[in-house]
Amino acid sequence: MTTIAFIGLGNMGNPMAANLVKAGHTVLGFDLVPENLAAARGNGVTVMADAGAAVRDADVVITMLPAGKHVVSVYEDIAARAKKDALFIDSSTIDIESARKAHEIADRHGHLSVDAPVSGGTGGATAGTLTFMAGGSQDAFARAEPVLKPMAGRIVHCGEAGAGQAAKICNNMILGISMIGVAEAFVLAEKIGLSHQALFDVASTSSGQCWSLTTYCPVPGPVPTSPANRDYAPGFAAALMLKDLSLAQDAARSAGAATPLGAQAAQLYALFSGQGHGGVDFSGIVRMLRGDPA
Ligand code: NAD
Repeated sequence: MTTIAFIGLGNMGNPMAANLVKAGHTVLGFDLVPENLAAARGNGVTVMADAGAAVRDADVVITMLPAGKHVVSVYEDIAARAKKDALFIDSSTIDIESARKAHEIADRHGHLSVDAPVSGGTGGATAGTLTFMAGGSQDAFARAEPVLKPMAGRIVHCGEAGAGQAAKICNNMILGISMIGVAEAFVLAEKIGLSHQALFDVASTSSGQCWSLTTYCPVPGPVPTSPANRDYAPGFAAALMLKDLSLAQDAARSAGAATPLGAQAAQLYALFSGQGHGGVDFSGIVRMLRGDPA
């Protein structure tokens, strides 16, 4: 069994670390928030005084942090203090530039590294069914794969350093755009006298079929498990969708890629979040598109 340092024990990190403990690993955890440390302790994580203490004896270092600046600053803090052959895995969703910088820092100190952002949300983190999208060398991926397994439903090696983050933002740009498309279709259906169920029955087995419709239907009724049936409690909060769409726009700008619908989706989610709905599930954007009172 492996000794794993886990830094960032928030909504995602805590249940992910708990699954590593359940798989028999020794997990040494650190977070800045005392309540998160207490929850981790309850899950069998050995809580350490700081990030340096957590990584000192670890064979693998996993980070699950809010944004690129946190990952880079934590890597700068710990890379020199970790064991020489420790493997670094960052599962945060961050910009590609910071992801590559994190790889460089790890590499400079002789550590193999993988960017391995996830899809599946807190439900997937708890159930151990996350999809991991990994970027890094073959050697790094080969070492990371068995470590990720207790937290994963699927693990895909997407390419070299940064490719995991690239896959994550491309996927979530599709998701943001498709959710708005599905929501607009339901709003139009309401105005022209077509029931939600009739639109669902046709589109779910026709060319309009997509995950935003058949798994995450933005109106209540047709898919009983979708957030629309619980007043749009997340799920996947609109603020996180805005974060991912903004990362996609940053990448598109720096690479010179034309993503007009991605840009429009980012603007609509910025508007929705700006109206105070950042904590609402991202499918709740149907209310803004319908013109419901903010
Ligand atoms: P969160 O805010 O709940 O957790 C982040 C944790 O990092 C916090 O507990 C914070 O205290 C800790 N932290 C920040 N700086 C630190 C430092 N220097 N040292 C130690 N700990 C530090 O966020 P989350 O929902 O767990 O998301 C984590 C990452 O996963 C984000 O990048 C997010 O975009 C991504 N993600 C989240 C979801 C989701 O549904 N929540 C889904 C997929 C991906």
